[in-house]
Amino acid sequence: MSLDPRNRRTVPFFKYPHVFCSVENEILEIVRDVGRRGAFILQKDVQEFEAHLAEYLGTKYVLGVGNATDALFLGLKAAGIGPGDEVIFCTHTFVATAGAIHSTGATPVPVECGPDHLMDPDSVKEAITPKTRAIMPTQLNGRTADMDALQAIADEHGLLIFEDSAQALGSKFKGRCAGTFGVAGVFSFYPAKNLGALGDAGALVTNDEAVYKKAKMMRDHGRDEETGDVVVWGINSRLDNIHAAILDHKFKSYDIIVQRRREIAAIYQERLADISELVLPPGPDADPDHFDVFQNYEIEAERRDELKAHLAEHGVGTMVQWGGKPVHLFRKLGFTQSLPYTEALFERLLMLPMNDSLTDEDVVYVCEVVRDFYGA
Ligand SMILES: *Cc1c(COP(=O)(O)O)cnc(C)c1O
Repeated sequence: MSLDPRNRRTVPFFKYPHVFCSVENEILEIVRDVGRRGAFILQKDVQEFEAHLAEYLGTKYVLGVGNATDALFLGLKAAGIGPGDEVIFCTHTFVATAGAIHSTGATPVPVECGPDHLMDPDSVKEAITPKTRAIMPTQLNGRTADMDALQAIADEHGLLIFEDSAQALGSKFKGRCAGTFGVAGVFSFYPAKNLGALGDAGALVTNDEAVYKKAKMMRDHGRDEETGDVVVWGINSRLDNIHAAILDHKFKSYDIIVQRRREIAAIYQERLADISELVLPPGPDADPDHFDVFQNYEIEAERRDELKAHLAEHGVGTMVQWGGKPVHLFRKLGFTQSLPYTEALFERLLMLPMNDSLTDEDVVYVCEVVRDFYGA
């Protein structure tokens, strides 16, 4: 089948204005309400959003912070990670995962991802040393890793699990939410994330009261709320109250956002699964152990760069995650490891448009352009 130029459309990879415009009137009302109350820093809107998120996740404590990178740092510090410790992470992730480990004074130790693009348990086992304190899986693309396998390793070696679940709000493994498996987890509300704010925002989640209490003081300059006394070294990473109010509003329809992303994944699955040059992520109903929220739709593609160019020529925006480099290849940060599986995978990765502004027709069109490229 060849493409009819009359059917040409423009499908950007992501529409930033949609984050605002899809709920413009509601947001303006929220801004007016918060503004007129003068409720800017740590007011009831932050507490309400934290409570709603905790209820949704089934976790005891949620702390709204400035962004997910800060949440990682605060959570790791509060869990006692610091100089002399090693923390294992998978390098198909944002540099923030490793950056947060480094910021605590600990050493980020890179390992491979597996065919599911998530942390590879065998690679983790090989990386454990007497200094290892924690395993930090990234729940990438809205999918949760096989936490049974990682938990078994953590139990055997007495390690903490700390999830970078920035991309996985609502994603589940065996019915349990990403972010709630280990000592703590984080979420990002960066505008392009599934639940997007109008700027930076994030959350730390934990069931551990001591971690929560310490991180809570640390997000506000180390101040103890009750006494006003400064009791630990802290930073300023408070979730803006106005953002909390906007997020709390958007969160009410979060299930619809997730549902829409899963529908889009199903269309991709239906229309691309037969192309032998591609490896698709598992479809939304592929496996009862996993509930995926499709933060991204990341495929593996033969002749990836040519496919990307072909899609661009036909008006379709795509992205290669992390600028095309796994974290351990940022050699200027001091990494020297080679991870052959991950490095080969990165030659093949491509993200197709995946967001709730897409119509079915947009998605079908993207599939047609992909099929056209492979002559399918
Ligand atoms: C987005 C993201 C982060 C960082 O989130 P911020 O809120 O921008 O700090 C960290 N890890 C992963 C895997 C992410 O996708």
